[in-house]
Amino acid sequence: MTEVKVSEIPEEGLSLSVREDPAALNLTVPGGRFLEQVSVDVFLVKADEAVLATGRITVPVAFECVRCLREFPASLDIPLSTQFVPPPELPLGEHPMPPDEAEDYYYRDDVIVLDDLVRQEVLMAVPFNPQCRAECPGLCPQCGQDLNRERCACAPPPDHRWAALRQHLKGK
Ligand SMILES: [Zn+2]
Ligand SMILES: [Zn+2]
Repeated sequence: MTEVKVSEIPEEGLSLSVREDPAALNLTVPGGRFLEQVSVDVFLVKADEAVLATGRITVPVAFECVRCLREFPASLDIPLSTQFVPPPELPLGEHPMPPDEAEDYYYRDDVIVLDDLVRQEVLMAVPFNPQCRAECPGLCPQCGQDLNRERCACAPPPDHRWAALRQHLKGK
């Protein structure tokens, strides 16, 4: 857990380099696993009430390819450019909306907690359908052979567009 006191950030800004344990951050990636700790390099500088945060988050991750199901190593490299702001003042009993739309993060009582930022930025950077390479042929739908390794003897699946055309031509 990395916390920074806003009042202790000097006028010229503050550079931070920390390593965060994904487990301690309660962070998991769907379809993948972390190979190392998350590296966070961030520069914090005050601008009135806001604290601007720029830098980079990097972490090596192993994903399972959605096509061939093999695990492949990748590196998430996430540029940071956001800000921490105090939560909006609300009447007692009302809760502020989570700030995800504004892409801002909140700090409370002079304390910036970097964990939320790291967790959210990493989750947003995770590919929805990770593929080992863009043109991965995947597995044969008939025998399950990994077509990256070897072609199988299965006939290619019939292409319905051509079948329709053939039908059409036959009818002439
Ligand atoms: Zn693949
Ligand atoms: Zn096959």
